[in-house]
This record gives sequence, structure tokens and C-alpha cells, in this order.
Amino acid sequence: MLSVSSRDFLKLPIKEFIIPSEKVAHVQLGNNTEHALLVLTKTGYSSIPVLDMRYRMHGMISVQQITDEILGLDRIEYERLDSIKVDEVMTRDFVKINERDTFQRALDLLINHPYVCVVGDEDTFLGIMTRRVVMKQLKKQLYLSLD
Ligand code: AMP
Repeated sequence: MLSVSSRDFLKLPIKEFIIPSEKVAHVQLGNNTEHALLVLTKTGYSSIPVLDMRYRMHGMISVQQITDEILGLDRIEYERLDSIKVDEVMTRDFVKINERDTFQRALDLLINHPYVCVVGDEDTFLGIMTRRVVMKQLKKQLYLSLD
């Protein structure tokens, strides 16, 4: 059974576990998919957020979405990358969470997603919360409960 401190832990606001926006790799609306693939490849991330010039969240783009888009009949048509915009390929159907939400809500969402985007008013991008960060916190909490 969960101890009281674990219950309290689940109710903590996610604020302190967020990777802040300035540390998150992203692309902007209007960028082409060649740029997005470059950022994704260089950072090693499989998916990153798509923001506008005012740092509002519009979608997420992944390596798989880009390669799917340029998959020809018998080859990958890399030469098309510079004429396809991220807006045409990204998913607009993404999971977001508010900075005032609890750790428990993030935990529930991160079962099915490697990361979730944290937004403020008017979908302003504040950062992300990742499975890795949550796993680390859960490990700490579990070890504390064994003491
Ligand atoms: P992790 O739990 O650290 O493996 O991260 C899971 C996923 O979150 C990565 O595959 C990326 O899609 C995304 N991610 C993590 N850190 C960053 C970052 N600093 N910038 C952009 N995306 C990130």
C-alpha cells in the first residue's frame, strides 16, 4: 500500500520536474523538413515540439513522420525535404499538460508517451516532462520508502 508520503508525492505540482523550454530542442512553423531532420539527427531525439515565433505550441514532429512523407516506391526521396514544411508533416494531435497539473497526471500520461509538453496560458510552451525524469523521481521515492 502507498505510504502517506507517496500519496503526497503524487500530488506535487510538476513545476519542479520540467525540463525548461530553453533546454528543449525544437523547430518552428515554416521550417522545412530538411532542417527538422537535421535537428532530430544531431540531438538524437526521435520527436521534438513545433513552436511559432511567440513560443506557442503547435505540434510535434518525428523522424518517422518525415521519412514516411518522402518514402517513394523504391527509394527515400531526400531531395524533396527542402520543399516540404514541418507544418505539412507534424502531428497536431499531441498530449499537453499544464504546469499546475500534478505529478500523478504526468505519470499517467507518460505510460503511453515518452514525453509530454508543458504549456501555460494560450498554449505558451514552457518545457517538457519526460519518462526519464519521472522514472528517476519514482526510483528516489521508492528507495526512500524502503528506509
Ligand atoms: P528521455 O525520457 O530523456 O529518453 O526523453 C524522451 C523523449 O523526450 C526524447 O526521445 C525526445 O523526443 C524528448 N526529449 C527529451 N529531452 C529533450 C530535449 N532536451 N529537447 C527536445 N526533446 C527532448
